[in-house]
Amino acid sequence: MGEGIGVANRRQLNGHYDQAATMLGVPGAGHFEPADLEPGLSDRLGDLDVNRAVIDRKLVHFKKPSVRWKETLTRLARAGKFRCVLNAAALELIVAENGSTVEELIVGRQGSTLSIRADVFVVCAGALETPRLLLNSRRRLAHGIGNAHDLVGRYLLDHPIGHYCKLRFHRSTRAPLYASLPLAGNVGMMAGLMLAPEQQRQRRLANHYVWIRPSVSAARIDDELLLSFLAVRSARDLSARQVIAILTNRDIAYRILVHRFGIRPKFKFGDLFFMIEQLPNPDSRVGLSNRRDEYGYQVVSVNWQLLERDIDGFLEYAKVLFEHGLRSEQHTLARVDDPSIWNRTLASAAHHLGTARMAASPQHGVVDRNLQVFGMSNLFVCDGSVFATAGSVNRSLTITALGIRLAEHLVSSQAA
Ligand SMILES: Cc1cc2nc3c(=O)[nH]c(=O)nc-3n(C[C@H](O)[C@H](O)[C@H](O)COP(=O)(O)OP(=O)(O)OC[C@H]3O[C@@H](n4cnc5c(N)ncnc54)[C@H](O)[C@@H]3O)c2cc1C
Repeated sequence: MGEGIGVANRRQLNGHYDQAATMLGVPGAGHFEPADLEPGLSDRLGDLDVNRAVIDRKLVHFKKPSVRWKETLTRLARAGKFRCVLNAAALELIVAENGSTVEELIVGRQGSTLSIRADVFVVCAGALETPRLLLNSRRRLAHGIGNAHDLVGRYLLDHPIGHYCKLRFHRSTRAPLYASLPLAGNVGMMAGLMLAPEQQRQRRLANHYVWIRPSVSAARIDDELLLSFLAVRSARDLSARQVIAILTNRDIAYRILVHRFGIRPKFKFGDLFFMIEQLPNPDSRVGLSNRRDEYGYQVVSVNWQLLERDIDGFLEYAKVLFEHGLRSEQHTLARVDDPSIWNRTLASAAHHLGTARMAASPQHGVVDRNLQVFGMSNLFVCDGSVFATAGSVNRSLTITALGIRLAEHLVSSQAA
C-alpha cells in the first residue's frame, strides 16, 4: 500500500495475506514463486522464450466458484450468529454533537428507514458507494464525514484493460500460452508477464501487466464485440445479436472451443492484452449527482479520468517488453494498435479503488494506517476505497488481508 509514506505496507501485511489466501482458498503468498508452485509449469504453459533478467512471469490465482463474503454473512446471519439487516441500504451516518463520534446509521429497507446504533461502525460499501455514504452524511459536518480536506471520492482508480498488438508466431502451436489453467482442486491460474521488479524500479514504471491469448486470425477483433466479451464474461448475459456476432468471430469461437469444450486446435497468432496500473489523480473522482434515490439521498456521479501519463507509461513499458524482454526469434509483430483508438476501446476491469485513500495525515487521505477515518473516533472503512495506489491484480486478496487486520485491531483495542 505504499511503503515509506506512513501507511500499511506489504511487510506488515504478510501474515494477513497468508490468512486471506487460506480464506479465499488460493495458494498463500509464500507460494507465489512459479518454480515452487508447479513443477513443469513452463512446459504446460508452453512459455514464450523471454529474457528473464527483464521479464518475470506473473501468476494470478482464482477459485471456482469464488468466495463471496456477502453470501457467507447472509448464511451466518440467517443461522442467528449475529444480527444483520438484510437487503437494506446504508443511507447516512449521524455524527454526535462532539463532531467526532458516529452514533447512528440510517438504513433504508423496503421504502422505509430505520436507525442502527453501535459503538463502532465499519463502512465496506466499495469504492463507489463508500464515498457516497460519507458525502451524504453531512448533518453535523457540512462537507460530509472525513472530508475536511475535500478528499472523499477523489483519486478514483481502476485497472484499464485493452488490446495492444497481434503477434505472428513463426511456428504454429497448441500451447495454452498465458490463458487460464486449472490447477489442483478447484483452483485456477492465469499467467501473464510483467517487468522484473528491479527493472520496474530502475525505469520508474508502474505495475502494468500483460498477457497473450492464442489467436487464429491476423484480423483485428471488432472492438465493441471484444469489449462486451471481456466485460460480460458470460454468454448468458449477451443478446442474440451479440451471440451470433461472437460465434462468427474466429478468435472468440476458438476461445469457446478451448474453454467450453476442451478442444485445442493449433494457432499461429497471439493477442497481447494489457492491464494498466493507473496513477493516482485527484481529479478522477466520485461525487454526488443531482439525482436522488427513493429515500431522497443523492446518488453517485462518476468522473473517471485516465491521463496521458498513464498511456505513455504503458507505451514505455511495452517498448521495454519488446526491445529487451520478448525474444523476436519466435514471432513478428503482425499489428500494433494505435493508442488513439484506446479512448474508445479501453475497458474498466471493475476494480474501483482509491476514493477514501489511506494516508499518514488528513491532508493526504481519508483513513489512517488502521483504516480509521481521520477525525472520527469510531468509524472505519474497509474496502477497495482505502487503496492509496492501484497496484496490480488481484486486489481482493489485499482487501481481505486488510479486513483481517482491521478485525484484529478492533478486537485488541476493545480489549485494551
Ligand atoms: C466481473 C468481475 C470480475 C472480477 N474478477 C476479479 C478477480 O478475478 N480477482 C479479484 O481480485 N477481483 C476481481 N474483481 C473485483 C472484485 O470483485 C472487487 O475488487 C471486490 O469485490 C471489491 O471489494 P470491495 O469490498 O471494495 O467492494 P464490493 O465487493 O463491491 O462490496 C461492497 C458491498 O457493499 C454493498 N453496498 C454498496 N452500497 C451499499 C449501501 N449503501 N448499503 C449497504 N450495502 C451496500 C454492495 O452490494 C456490495 O456487496 C472482479 C469484479 C468483477 C465485476
